[in-house]
Amino acid sequence: MDALAELIRSLPDGAVVVDPDVIEAYRYDWSREPGAGTPVAVVRPGDAAQVQATVQWAAEHRVPVVPRGAGSGLSGGSSAVDGGIVLSLERMRAVEIDPDCQTATVEPGALNAEVKLAAGEHDLWYPPDPSSYEICSIGGNVATNAGGLCCVKYGVTTDYVLGLDVVLADGTLVTLGGQRIKDVAGLSLLKLFVGSEGTLGIVTRAILRLVPAQAVASTVVATFAEVDAAARAVVSMRRGLRPSMLELMDRTSINAVEDYRSMGLDRSAGAMLVVQSDAPGAARAEEVATVEAACADAGATAVFLTDDPDEGELFVEARRAAFPAIGARGAVMLEDVGAAVPLLPELLASIASIAQEHDVEIPVVAHAGDGNTHPIIVYDETDPDATKRAGAAFDAVMAAAIELGGTITGEHGVGRTKRSALPAQLGEDVMALSRRVKSALDPDGILNPGAVL
Ligand SMILES: Cc1cc2nc3c(=O)[nH]c(=O)nc-3n(C[C@H](O)[C@H](O)[C@H](O)COP(=O)(O)OP(=O)(O)OC[C@H]3O[C@@H](n4cnc5c(N)ncnc54)[C@H](O)[C@@H]3O)c2cc1C
Repeated sequence: MDALAELIRSLPDGAVVVDPDVIEAYRYDWSREPGAGTPVAVVRPGDAAQVQATVQWAAEHRVPVVPRGAGSGLSGGSSAVDGGIVLSLERMRAVEIDPDCQTATVEPGALNAEVKLAAGEHDLWYPPDPSSYEICSIGGNVATNAGGLCCVKYGVTTDYVLGLDVVLADGTLVTLGGQRIKDVAGLSLLKLFVGSEGTLGIVTRAILRLVPAQAVASTVVATFAEVDAAARAVVSMRRGLRPSMLELMDRTSINAVEDYRSMGLDRSAGAMLVVQSDAPGAARAEEVATVEAACADAGATAVFLTDDPDEGELFVEARRAAFPAIGARGAVMLEDVGAAVPLLPELLASIASIAQEHDVEIPVVAHAGDGNTHPIIVYDETDPDATKRAGAAFDAVMAAAIELGGTITGEHGVGRTKRSALPAQLGEDVMALSRRVKSALDPDGILNPGAVL
């Protein structure tokens, strides 16, 4: 391809990779979305000017561009496209902390964990904490508006984005926001790009808000005979509280983690809640007591409290290990549906009936305090009938969430795996508005075609 030779010439040596073996590793994200195509090249720019040059080239030659952070996405958002390029931001990883402004200025390829570490050196904290924080990039977090375990109290990625540099579909670089905590000048374009999944522009720099380091938390772990009882405990404690973590694992996910890496969890439990409080002073004891009472009232079989951060962290690690542990049981289709917190018991009941109806196994872990569940459909991909039933269950779970006024995705994004269900949630008018925004910013549709819309 002559055009590709032109791109190779215009960028530094090694920035454009055409080796098929390397390209293969950039075709999929963690979802292994089956529709992933084969790109003509992987482009790994070293700075924003090289991103601009690449996008200008792509615009001129109408080549699809799939932005990619660390490829930990769970909805096929960075699946490659046939004939396109994968624009991997992995080499752009600078992190600069400004302790006076309490901000981090970050290049998109920096991992979430690297930002936390750099902030920690100044006694500051970057709260958004997807379970994948050690393997996902800030660019990917911004593009998916990633959530995580402490969102129940501290909010999601968008709550910490003060500024972005974005390369638009024609190669123009715009700077939105800055280190200002308050800024309402002009339309709120900054937030338009958060959660846009690489379809509207490419993030080349983010200015993130930091907060003082978090206090060491106390951890309550409660087990229940049935998942419904655990869900009712969540609803009850969320009436008056915002604990700093409120996570749920069901029986199958507990056992999957135990099979994967024995951690001494109670295999007989129908569900387990891991709740943390980082409330200051006397408020801590009050919050913990309310959590314990809510669990006991909902029929907990055991309630355990620890103020030892290492002991607490073991349970959080068990929760974080759930995806890889369940993934080790077979092929998976991973859901991310959510509903208003009081409807959590109904949502979980619907998921259980869908599993029964379609004869599939659906373990559930959840950021329960946010009403955000991850039903994980496990199936045998060598069996066509099992694959068909898993696909039907995947669609049914999204339909059940919509039926409850909920969402098909709380944090992973629509990507390619949930695209077909989006109109049912948003409705035709909002879909049409979304398409108008997309075509205003990317009239030739070169940015991440096939994702979201
Ligand atoms: C074990 C595991 C646990 C997880 N737990 C959570 C969790 O608790 N909460 C959560 O929210 N997610 C979770 N995820 C999902 C995933 O880690 C997040 O979606 C994360 O934000 C993706 O970041 P990434 O760098 O890997 O992005 P990628 O997967 O590379 O890309 C994700 C999307 O962002 C776009 N993109 C990437 N970089 C840019 C950029 N610079 N500019 C524009 N667009 C860009 C891509 O095109 C794609 O649409 C988990 C994943 C795994 C594997």
